[in-house]
Amino acid sequence: MSDQKYPKPLPTPSPEAQRFWEGTKKHELWIPYCRSCEKSYWYPRDFCPQCGGRDVEWRRSGGKGRVHTFAIHYRAFHPGWTDEVPYVTALIDLDDGVRIFSNLVEVEADPKAIRCEMPVEVVFEDVTDEITLAKFRPASA
Ligand SMILES: [Zn+2]
Repeated sequence: MSDQKYPKPLPTPSPEAQRFWEGTKKHELWIPYCRSCEKSYWYPRDFCPQCGGRDVEWRRSGGKGRVHTFAIHYRAFHPGWTDEVPYVTALIDLDDGVRIFSNLVEVEADPKAIRCEMPVEVVFEDVTDEITLAKFRPASA
C-alpha cells in the first residue's frame, strides 16, 4: 500500500479538512457542525456557510444516508480508472443533513440496480498509508 502503487490521483487534504481525513483514516466519518445554526454543513471550512459564524465543531456522522442522484461512468477520464469502468459516482444525502459527493461501491454499475433515495452507508478504502477514502454502499433501510 504505497503511494507509487495507487494509480489514481489522490486528494490533497486542505488544512480545513484535516479533521475529516484524520477521521477516515480511523474509519470514522466526521462532518463540520455549526453550534449557532445547530446544523451540519459541507464542505469543511472554519466558518459556517449558513450564518458566517465561527462557532463550529466536528461531529461524528453515523455514516448513513440516501442516494440523491448518481452517474454511471463508462469511460475512464484518467488511466487509473481504466480497469474499473463502469463505475458509479453519487451525491449522497447524509442523515446529518449534508449532501456529499462520493463513489457508490459494492453495487452493479447498472441503472436498474441503483435508484435515487436508495439507503446507503459509508465504507472506507485505505488507498495509501496517508489517505483513506470514504465511499458508500447499499444499506438495508
Ligand atoms: Zn451557522
